Amino acid sequence: MKKFVNKEEALVLTEKLGNDFTIIKNPDYVFPEYEVVPIAEKLTNVKNVTALVMDMDGTTTTTEELCLHSLEYMIRRMSRLYSKEEWIGLDHEKDFPNVIGNSTTKHVEYLITTYNNLLNPKDVFNSFIDSARWTLKFGKDHKRSEEVKLNLKQFGFGELINNLEKEFEYNNQFEELSKTDQVRIGIDIYYQRYHFILQRIMNGESSKVSEELFNDPHKHLIHPMQGIGVFLALSKGLLGDEAENLFDNLAADYKIKSGKEFHGNISSIKTRLKELGRRFESNPLKIAVVTSSIYYEADIVLSEVFKVLVEEVNQLSISAEKKEKIKSAFSNYTDFYDTVVTASDSSEIRLKPHRDLYSIALHQLNVPKNKFNEVIGFEDSESGTIAIRAAGVGLCCAVPFAQTSGHNLEAASHICNGGIPEVLLTHNLFIK
Ligand SMILES: [Mg+2]
Repeated sequence: MKKFVNKEEALVLTEKLGNDFTIIKNPDYVFPEYEVVPIAEKLTNVKNVTALVMDMDGTTTTTEELCLHSLEYMIRRMSRLYSKEEWIGLDHEKDFPNVIGNSTTKHVEYLITTYNNLLNPKDVFNSFIDSARWTLKFGKDHKRSEEVKLNLKQFGFGELINNLEKEFEYNNQFEELSKTDQVRIGIDIYYQRYHFILQRIMNGESSKVSEELFNDPHKHLIHPMQGIGVFLALSKGLLGDEAENLFDNLAADYKIKSGKEFHGNISSIKTRLKELGRRFESNPLKIAVVTSSIYYEADIVLSEVFKVLVEEVNQLSISAEKKEKIKSAFSNYTDFYDTVVTASDSSEIRLKPHRDLYSIALHQLNVPKNKFNEVIGFEDSESGTIAIRAAGVGLCCAVPFAQTSGHNLEAASHICNGGIPEVLLTHNLFIK
């Protein structure tokens, strides 16, 4: 194949790549402005299923509350507008579709652009130094610390690296920061807040943090999505015939997720669940979690989620023997999943909606290209659904989350507002 082509030749080559394409806009500092990327033809069902690729935040778990809080906090720090009276905060309709499900860079870029008039140079400076100091002192993610060091040097505060107590005078370079520099600083502040909260959760302060941030000690900041426990156990063949007993659990979760009562032919659904249980008992599915979060975050989040999943097993209407088996399988998420792919496996500029994380997952699951039609992808966001198709998986199911309800989910073959319970109860996991 030729290495360099002109526009006309490029068009011919592009045409051979398929009928469906998507346009991916790059961050401001990347060449080119956008990319035109081929995506797999949409599939609405599968003859056979061998693997699942699933997003973490909003699909497997809910940590969006924490991310949203940290993003809002970033703007508050950079403007010193801490109360709702001074600044109302993120707007559900206008802002949420732009700050969920994409890469951190894009989320921060959007907010810095949208709320630029609120930012105050002195507060940007102070919050930058404070968050850098915290990250170097207490941060547990090596890559993050390296980025913070790079930024400190870039802005002329490299001395902080070797002297964490060092104080700096404000200087007026902060009056004329470029958008890229503001975003760089915003990212440091965002991560500092997010990791600070994650560390407290790790230290068992979950309910204290919920009380402080959301005035509700019982609010789970990290929690599995409805039906996830049942779905994972079923897919790994841990339920067998007893899958039929989980109809009530799924119907109850359907109601929580969709806000509606489930209606359907109960006895035929139970029969189908039992068949799925048997099918996966003899052929367990390979499962990958694919997240734009960095490894450090995914590790804390998934550890916490699986702790809750183990507790939830007791509420399932299955035999004691199966319960023990599932609890043991859920006791360690790294053993449970076939692979966990995080942003740390790629680079910030190649996260969703780019295909990379999903391509890595498919490779690690050892699914050959001609079997991509036996893979089902689950996502709750616009960029995630695009990433699945861009990785060559045609069956992408969107399970929108309250906070991604404003997203354009056109890339998905199915949009299930009833989440994973709907996928099982209504669609029989899209198996023909
Ligand atoms: Mg998500």
